Amino acid sequence: MTDEIVKRLKAALASEWQAYYQYWVSAVIAIGKGMPGIVNEFKDHADEEKEHADLIAERLYQLGETPVFRPSDWEANADCPYPHYDGMTTLVLLDQNLEAEKCAVKNYQELAKLTAEADDFATNDMVVEILRDENEHETDLAKLKFYIMAQNGNQDSPNKPVNE
Ligand code: FE
Ligand code: FE
Ligand code: MG
Repeated sequence: MTDEIVKRLKAALASEWQAYYQYWVSAVIAIGKGMPGIVNEFKDHADEEKEHADLIAERLYQLGETPVFRPSDWEANADCPYPHYDGMTTLVLLDQNLEAEKCAVKNYQELAKLTAEADDFATNDMVVEILRDENEHETDLAKLKFYIMAQNGNQDSPNKPVNE
């Protein structure tokens, strides 16, 4: 276990809370705009980001470290940016979440490498498990985006309902 790994785990935890909240916001906006087809995916992903936060927080405690608890510290500690919400459309929402997933994938790939190099197999196991989910999230969003673009004839229409 290296200081770098602990630092990256704390950043990952802050990012997971941001990701959880980002999907929660996305689901609320999608409901508000009458886009039921994407609400469930956003809610599912929110739940999974929260599970990632649980796993990382538990691991930090096992390592004798204290997780970042203050919401105001999340953005400063997170290793992925939090988006601005204005002029939301379905495609903008999907793109923002895709960006977040790409950032998460990159960070967990780096953490997977770091933990393997440090022979920290317990943390490596957890990180690889989370990475699998983040890759799946990215694929799910990319599919949704493709589907919505096809439905809209490649033009975004924020208020158009999407059927599953
Ligand atoms: Fe996550
Ligand atoms: Fe994710
Ligand atoms: Mg999914």
